[in-house]
Amino acid sequence: MPFSKYDRFFVCFSLFLSCLAFCLFPLSAEAARKQKILVLHSYHQGYEWTDNISSGIQAIFEPLDKDYEMYYEYLDTKRNTGAYYEQHLEELFIAKMKTVEFAAVIVADNNGLAFIKKSYRFLKGHPPLIFCGINYFQPDMIDTLPAVTGVTEEADIAANFGLMLRLHPERKRIVVILDRTATGDAVAKLLAEATEVYRDRVLIETFRDFTLDEAVAFVGELGAEDMICLLTFNRDRDNNFISYSAAVSLIREAADVPIYGVWDFYLGKGIVGGMITSGFEQGKVAAQLALRILRGESPQNLPIITGSVNRIMLDFKQLQAFDIDSRRLPDGALIINQPPGFYQKYQRVFLGASLAIVLLLGFSWIRLLAQKREKARLVKMNVALDNLVEEKTARLQDANKALQKIATTDDLTGIHNRGYLLKQLAQEIEAVEGQGSELSIILVDLDRFKLVNDTFGHNFGDQVLKRVSAAFGTALRDKDLVGRYGGEEFLLILPDTDLGKSTIIAERVRQSIASYCWEKDGFQTTISGGVVQYVGESVENLLKRADELLYQAKALGRNRMENRPIDPCLTSPRSGRSASV
Ligand code: GH3
Ligand code: MG
Ligand code: MG
Repeated sequence: MPFSKYDRFFVCFSLFLSCLAFCLFPLSAEAARKQKILVLHSYHQGYEWTDNISSGIQAIFEPLDKDYEMYYEYLDTKRNTGAYYEQHLEELFIAKMKTVEFAAVIVADNNGLAFIKKSYRFLKGHPPLIFCGINYFQPDMIDTLPAVTGVTEEADIAANFGLMLRLHPERKRIVVILDRTATGDAVAKLLAEATEVYRDRVLIETFRDFTLDEAVAFVGELGAEDMICLLTFNRDRDNNFISYSAAVSLIREAADVPIYGVWDFYLGKGIVGGMITSGFEQGKVAAQLALRILRGESPQNLPIITGSVNRIMLDFKQLQAFDIDSRRLPDGALIINQPPGFYQKYQRVFLGASLAIVLLLGFSWIRLLAQKREKARLVKMNVALDNLVEEKTARLQDANKALQKIATTDDLTGIHNRGYLLKQLAQEIEAVEGQGSELSIILVDLDRFKLVNDTFGHNFGDQVLKRVSAAFGTALRDKDLVGRYGGEEFLLILPDTDLGKSTIIAERVRQSIASYCWEKDGFQTTISGGVVQYVGESVENLLKRADELLYQAKALGRNRMENRPIDPCLTSPRSGRSASV
C-alpha cells in the first residue's frame, strides 16, 4: 500500500525531532552535569550591599562555571513587607523549587535566613546551607536546619570610633547618623555598647529622627571639632526611602567634616573610610565555605566565622581632602582610589621597554654568536688556505727545482749540460774580471769513440759516457765544474786555477780515465784534451783556443792533454806558464 501524504509528513517530522534532540543533547548533558547553587538574597538586585555580596560569590564561582551553575533569587524585603507579601513569596518559592535540586544554598542577610528556616522542607534533597551578612547571630536562627555554616556580619562600631580618634585627635565630637529602620534599631544596640567604651574620650551624639531637609541642615552646621559616623540612612522620618549612594552624597555635599562608616557600600562615595564590614568579603567567605562543602567537607566541620572579615578601609581622595597625616594610618589599612604609582602609571611602557631590551639583548647575543662563529670559520678557512698555499708553494718550489735541474742537466749522464756550462763560464769570467783571479778550462773528447759504438754497440757507448762523466767528478776538486759539452765532448771549468795547476789537474783526469777498470774484458778508453787559461778574451775565443789544442792532442796521437803558453800579443796574461804534458 503506498504512503499517504500524512504518512510522509509524519516521517519527516519525526526525523526533524530526532535531529533536534541529537543536536541539543550535548548542551543538555553538560547542563545536567553542572551542580546547581542557589544564592538567596534578602534584598533586591541593584541594592549595593546585595550586589557586593553577589560580586564576592562570583569572585569564587565565576572561574569554576564549567562545574557550577548559579541561581540568584531576590526576596526583595527592603521594598516589600507584610504578611500578604510573605505568604505569596513562599508560594512562589515553593513553585520554583519544585523541579530544581540544588547542591548547596547560600543565604544572604537575616531575612533570607529566617525565610529559608521556614521553607527549608520544600528544598529538594535537603542541600547544605551557607549564610552570610547575618547581624546579631543567635544559635536559634539555625536550630531546625540540618547542615549549616556561614559567616556573621558584625559591624565593629567601637573599632570605627577608635580609628576616627586616631586620625583626628583634634576633633572632640562624633555625630552618629542612624535612621529608624529595623536595621537602624538593631545597630543602635551595638552603638550603645561602643559609646560606652569611648564615653570618656570623646563626645558621641546620635542623630536619629530627621527628615532629609533636617539632616542636610544639621550636618551643614557641623564645625572644626566635629566628625560624622554614618551608620544607617535608608528612610527619613516621613518614610522617604533613600539609597545608600544618595544618602552619602547628600551628607557629603552638605557637611564640611570627615565622615566615617562601617559598611562598604558607603566607601568610595564620600566617607573617609572606617572599620568596614564588606558585602564583597561576606559573599566571598560564604562562597569559599560553599566550595569546601561541595568538594566533600562536612558543614559540621566548618565552624561559623564571626567578626574576622572586617577590615580598615580608607579612601585616598578623602584622606587628602581632610589633610590626614599618612603617618597616622594603621598598618594593614586598605587604601582605595590611590593614584597609580610611577611604575603602575607607566607599567605598559616599562613592560614594553623591558621586552624591547630583552629582545634587543637576545638579538645582539644571537648576532654576536653568529659573528663569533663566522670569525672562527674564517680563521679556520684562512689557516687551511695558508696551509694549502704553503703546500702549493713548496710543491712549486720542488717543481721549479726539478725544472731547473732538468734545464741544466744532461739527460744521459746526469751531469751539467752545455747551456749551463756556458752560463757558468760567463759568470766565472765575470768573477775573474771583478776579483782579478785566474780561471782555466779543459775541453775533453773521448778517443775513437765511434769505434766503441761500432764495436760494442750504442748502448754500451752510453754506459761508457756515463762512467766517464762520473769519473770526472771524482778526479776534480769541489769547486771545479764539469759538464757534457756535446756528443762525447766534456768541458771542465777550473776557477782560481792558472795554466800550470790546470795542466796538472788535466793530467790527473786523463790518467784516471785511462786507468779506469772496465767490466768488459780487455776494454779500455782514453781521452784527449786542450787546456787553456783565461786571458781576458771572449768566451768564444777561449773555447776556440781549447778546441784547437784538443785537435792538436788528437793529431799528436790521442790520450794526451795539450796546453799552450799564453800568447803575449793576444792579451796580458795575469799568470801562467805554458807546458806540454
Ligand atoms: P776521435 O778520436 O777523432 O775523436 O774519434 P771519434 O770516433 O771519437 O770521433 P768521431 O767524431 O768520428 O765520432 C764520435 C762518435 O761519438 C760518433 C757518435 O756516434 C758518437 N756519439 C756521440 N754522441 C753519442 C752518444 O750519446 N752515445 C753514443 N753511444 N755515441 C755517441
Ligand atoms: Mg768528438
Ligand atoms: Mg772523439
